[in-house]
Amino acid sequence: MNPQNLDIKIESVGGMGANLIGKILGETAAMKLMLNATSFSSYGSEKTGSPVTAFVRVRNNHDTIIENTPITHPDILALFHQSFLKNDGALAGLTTDSRLIVNTPLGTEPIRKLLGHDTPDLFVLDCQSLMEQHPVRINMLMLGAILKASGNEDWFLAVLEFAEELFSSKEPETLHNNLLAVRLGYEETVFSKGISAEKKELFPPSRQISVFGYRNTLPGGILPSLGNTAQNNLSLSRNGYIPKYLPEKCIHCGLCDTTCPDMVFTFREGEYNNRRAMINQGPDYRFCKGCLRCVEVCPTQALVSQKDTSGNLSGTHGADPIITSEAFYQENVKEGGLNE
Ligand code: SF4
Ligand code: SF4
Repeated sequence: MNPQNLDIKIESVGGMGANLIGKILGETAAMKLMLNATSFSSYGSEKTGSPVTAFVRVRNNHDTIIENTPITHPDILALFHQSFLKNDGALAGLTTDSRLIVNTPLGTEPIRKLLGHDTPDLFVLDCQSLMEQHPVRINMLMLGAILKASGNEDWFLAVLEFAEELFSSKEPETLHNNLLAVRLGYEETVFSKGISAEKKELFPPSRQISVFGYRNTLPGGILPSLGNTAQNNLSLSRNGYIPKYLPEKCIHCGLCDTTCPDMVFTFREGEYNNRRAMINQGPDYRFCKGCLRCVEVCPTQALVSQKDTSGNLSGTHGADPIITSEAFYQENVKEGGLNE
């Protein structure tokens, strides 16, 4: 892999800062390493939790970059969450020559098994553990991992210099934490050599086609994958914590419900203190993005922060839903056409 000739694709969700690190990579390649570089991002609805893909192209200074289309065959593909491994669209264009970076606590071997293919070079980083131990954010950790996978140490040093300039006007703590995150991402990323006999495409475009037709398109043309309308699963947006509901402490005041941006709480008619009341049934975790605003606002500590161990490789997590988009989805699945 030529570190001066790279196509990088970063798969993330809104609110995690993938766009910023794409810009940092592009800007440092151009301004510090004097290479040609472009970076741009593709957004969905620009809502926290919806898919975001950032693209970075780098060429040596003799090659003008004339493409401004999304990267279809990345040399480096960075997945902000292991859930993207279930998404053929995210993995599209990956070849045995590519480098795949995954944020996961699982390590390299389970990831190879999940891919079920000849695999590219793998770089894994457990961002959640690092965020629990240090005051760092996921995007800067992933930036460090991408720089490691690029094999270009000059770029890593250039990014540290650039980050000092970028954050010098902020609080000293902000600068320190961001530099720490890039270093940790670079140093803690674990590399495992790919297994491949020859160069070949691992996820060809034919695997990415969902066969929706007039007989099986869901109402309104909704998309059933993570972060889309049918499932609206926001669990990808979490940064390691979710609220834990302690019903015995709850006074059913509803403050959590009015504060929650994603209407995660469900209420049912019932009785509280010998009076009719709407009784909190707790969170439906699939809709919870882990912002913990509900924990801050709860007056009785009936909501506390707990580590998110859902891992996101199973289908659903957490409390049983009462009426959820999952139920709606199941009711509306028509024969064929859905890649389950
Ligand atoms: S804010 Fe706390 S006490 Fe009020 S309904 Fe929510 S969990 Fe219960
Ligand atoms: S952490 Fe609380 S406020 Fe935030 S999305 Fe989840 S339930 Fe809603």
